[in-house]
Amino acid sequence: TIANAAPLVEVKGISQSYDNGQFVVLDNVALTLRPGEIVGLLGRSGSGKSTLLRSIAGLIRPTSGSITFEGNPVSGTPDGISMVFQSFALFPWLTVLQNVELGLEARGIDAAERRKRALEAIDLIGLDGFESAYPKELSGGMRQRVGLARALVVHPKVLLMDEPFSALDVLTAETLRTDLLDLWSEGRMPIESILMVTHNIEEAVLMCDRVLIFSSNPGRVAAEIRID
Ligand code: ATP
Ligand code: MG
Repeated sequence: TIANAAPLVEVKGISQSYDNGQFVVLDNVALTLRPGEIVGLLGRSGSGKSTLLRSIAGLIRPTSGSITFEGNPVSGTPDGISMVFQSFALFPWLTVLQNVELGLEARGIDAAERRKRALEAIDLIGLDGFESAYPKELSGGMRQRVGLARALVVHPKVLLMDEPFSALDVLTAETLRTDLLDLWSEGRMPIESILMVTHNIEEAVLMCDRVLIFSSNPGRVAAEIRID
């Protein structure tokens, strides 16, 4: 079962402060991500949710505490982790295919393999037929799919998503959520665990096995709800 599986990600008591400790954003945050689970993260604006995700992705280094991925300390962006950012830019002069391929930039993968993986991700996430489109020709939902495809081309074991549906209208969000859950439950993505920030409790209940609630000032895990 999930509870017995070896952890993929272990966050051990990390703290994050700025201005030499004057401003504490995260205080002693601990969390474990195991294979097979989707974990939600809820909390007020400014409570440090994005900061926590960026730390797990290796983009910022916590002031104290440690983070491991498959037992190894996280530094730089580990190969098995990718992140869909709260707000991300698509390059307007590049096609959907080229924007997705960028997810593999700097990962040491040759051009043919990059193309193959990008087409796979595009197909998986429901963007087929849009390969040659430019970002300005896309709806908000399709744009968000490009962001997801760009994270999926990496073939991550751990997918971090920072409010992936918040910019979408209710129906579009529901469609994308359902598509993503179908991919997950059918095992068509190689992803083993998802950590997802959301402001939407209903979304968390629908998607997650566990939901962590953050307190603010400073951010710490105040409650955990397990949804069986
Ligand atoms: P939201 O729900 O609005 O996205 P959040 O929970 O994701 O909020 P964070 O973006 O993690 O919150 O920010 C937490 C706090 O840390 C905020 O007060 C923010 O201003 C502060 N912060 C983030 N990055 C830095 C930085 N590089 N220097 C100083 N303060 C920062
Ligand atoms: Mg945020």
